[in-house]
Amino acid sequence: ATTEETTDERKHRLVEDSVRYVWRHGVSTDSTRRAQGPIAVRASGVQVEDIDGNVYLDALAGGSAAATLGHGREDVADRVASQIRTMQWVSLRTFINEPSIELAKRIAEVAPGDLTTSFFVCDGSEAVESATQLVKSYHRQRGNPGKTKFLYRKTGYHGTTLVGASASSSSEFRTWFAPLAPGFVELDACYTYRRPSGMTEEEYGEACAQAIEDEILRQGPETVAGILAEAIPAALVLTPPPNYLRRLREICDKYDILWIDDEVFIGVGRTGTYFGSEHYGVVPDVITVSKGITGGYVPLGAAIASQRVMDVLIADGGTGQAKVSGHTYSAHPVACAAGLAVLDAIRDEKLVDNVRDQGEWLLAQLRAWGRTNPHVGDVRGKGFLIGIELVRDKETREPFPAEWGVGGKVSKAGMRNLFMCRATGDVVTLFPALVATHDDVRAMFDGVTKAIEEALGELPE
Ligand code: PLP
Repeated sequence: ATTEETTDERKHRLVEDSVRYVWRHGVSTDSTRRAQGPIAVRASGVQVEDIDGNVYLDALAGGSAAATLGHGREDVADRVASQIRTMQWVSLRTFINEPSIELAKRIAEVAPGDLTTSFFVCDGSEAVESATQLVKSYHRQRGNPGKTKFLYRKTGYHGTTLVGASASSSSEFRTWFAPLAPGFVELDACYTYRRPSGMTEEEYGEACAQAIEDEILRQGPETVAGILAEAIPAALVLTPPPNYLRRLREICDKYDILWIDDEVFIGVGRTGTYFGSEHYGVVPDVITVSKGITGGYVPLGAAIASQRVMDVLIADGGTGQAKVSGHTYSAHPVACAAGLAVLDAIRDEKLVDNVRDQGEWLLAQLRAWGRTNPHVGDVRGKGFLIGIELVRDKETREPFPAEWGVGGKVSKAGMRNLFMCRATGDVVTLFPALVATHDDVRAMFDGVTKAIEEALGELPE
């Protein structure tokens, strides 16, 4: 006779099977075992429940910023199910399909400037990779095939495929995935909080932009195709000085270099505008999106190109169309149906306004609290993208020794207290679902301040 598996036995089995059969990225098998997963079993709104019935408050939109509508939405589930029943998939090479056309039109309505045409793929890395292909095609089509290099910035993240990894300063990627793609050139990050002392933000913005121009001249403008730069680099929440992106735009125009604004993380409402670049009154040549476009319900990514770029790519009324590579699942109807449901919800529930209002409140509360905490160096962000930089010395901005792993301790303390927050280095980050209510963000304030205070209490000094 078989005996019923107890919850503990089931947990043990799932953890061991996970370690053996599922390769987790960024988490060692040892940590998976120590944390017994954790094993998520269901999620609803801004809450995730584990196998023991513990309910975590999710200030990370699922963990990696994708669940922008929160979890478990029936309206999205219905639209997705209905699309699967009607027509789950046909190739974009053979047919055009209505959900992708409708979604691309809706994206064009909310995108800044003349960004009109979506090239649909399956995730953020593919969106970035496709954007670089599109940019190279643009230059080739214009008779400049020598323009192939891409500039990217330190501390940025653009994905894990060869292009994404090559545009990343991660030393792990650089070591483990070597050789990376040639022609990717690293620039310094524009890290306002860590600017040289005595410099205003404006002066620093100018200096960072000048460094870009200097690098372009060093490389030779005739070799540079594009710059990959998030309007607001999300990992460390590097809100730029107000003049920086305007100058970047001018420099790109001066040397016929296209700006790929990677908004995989911040796009589609997260910063309190549909796109992050809108805060700075600049229009990129290509915007990449993923996560928020389908709220994590079905994978989808897109490179959204401006009409100006498309006019070159589809020259001579379409007969001289440049090459772009596609995927089996490009413009997948089910993913596009999910995208339409998400954009409907954002519009109908005025979620961009919600993000702006609740984000401002949360940022103000955290700043007020941070002023009294000796280790809160900086609190920055826009909308529902907030970073809290912890430092050893607030006056000198001296960081904690990296080996203390202060940021990591904060996210661990959060998880112990059933609160999901993240840290990159010692920058603790919050990026909740756009649907988070005032009560939710109040609870998130309590969650993150408690996690930080607990972690600071564990430090050697
Ligand atoms: N670009 C940015 C700015 C990202 O934040 C990410 C993922 O976090 C990516 C690209 C890669 O997207 P994906 O993980 O869907 O491949």
